[in-house]
Amino acid sequence: MQKRKVAISSQSSASNKQESIENIQETKDNEQQAIGNSQNTTDNNQETKDNIQQVADNNQEATGNSQNSIDNKQNSTEKSQQATGNKNSDSGKIVQRLVSWGFQKSSDRKIDTIIVHSSYDAIGKDPYSVSGIIEEYRQAQVSAHYLIARDGTVYQLVADQNIAWHAGVAKMPDGRTDVNSFSLGIEIINTQEGKFTDQQYSAVNSLIATLKKKYPIKNILGHSDIAPGRKTDPWGIEWKKVEK
Ligand SMILES: [Zn+2]
Repeated sequence: MQKRKVAISSQSSASNKQESIENIQETKDNEQQAIGNSQNTTDNNQETKDNIQQVADNNQEATGNSQNSIDNKQNSTEKSQQATGNKNSDSGKIVQRLVSWGFQKSSDRKIDTIIVHSSYDAIGKDPYSVSGIIEEYRQAQVSAHYLIARDGTVYQLVADQNIAWHAGVAKMPDGRTDVNSFSLGIEIINTQEGKFTDQQYSAVNSLIATLKKKYPIKNILGHSDIAPGRKTDPWGIEWKKVEK
């Protein structure tokens, strides 16, 4: 499965690291919430990790931008690419916020897959806190390439060419594993019970359109599609609103 012989040992260590991250996150969550359920199964623990990976400060800002038109979601990315730096909407705007953890450097990988996730801050007061979610990623030493806030702002956490640790143990419909190595991870801030905002749909569609111009994207899947039974995110996503 692993075409790049060189990377076998480091991938395996990355995999172990991810597993340990899950343990750390589970522990953290259990401590904080003082859950009485010490018999949490592995499944619960893993879901807990997803819970922890959620954050966003932009809930208030989202209110002001509710008129972002869904019709513009693809166009806005094209326009912002053409007119660099001249973006007139928060939705779809890409803000560089590169992190220093949770990825493996690469220069020659082939990207053909996008994996959509959701995250919220399970530790801080605001489940939508962007900085809180990023801090959780830091503690867990995980990452994704993009994080979409409630107002549609897109934060780039890891450069596309690098391998972000977002998928964990997973398997594609075509049988491939080591999903991180050929995918881009997009985290969309949402709670398990919540819905994505219109701005988030607009932003993710803009982002997908941009990425499809750069890479031969063949698969756009949710985390739960590649890790069924282990992962349930992206929660509440309406796939019909996602322009694959
Ligand atoms: Zn996920």
